[in-house]
Amino acid sequence: MQRLDGGQSEEEHLLSRLEGTECTYCDTGTLTRTTFRSDKAVVCEACDTPAVRFW
Ligand SMILES: [Zn+2]
Repeated sequence: MQRLDGGQSEEEHLLSRLEGTECTYCDTGTLTRTTFRSDKAVVCEACDTPAVRFW
């Protein structure tokens, strides 16, 4: 079961806004949505640096 509350949509909004943008830590990567140790996150596909993470 999944619980939805007010904070959820704000997270989703931020995650979807960051997805596909350029990584600020390297020159080649773009950010992609994933989970980071079971938390929702946006990480760079090239250097694996998490740009944002929710937990
Ligand atoms: Zn990167």
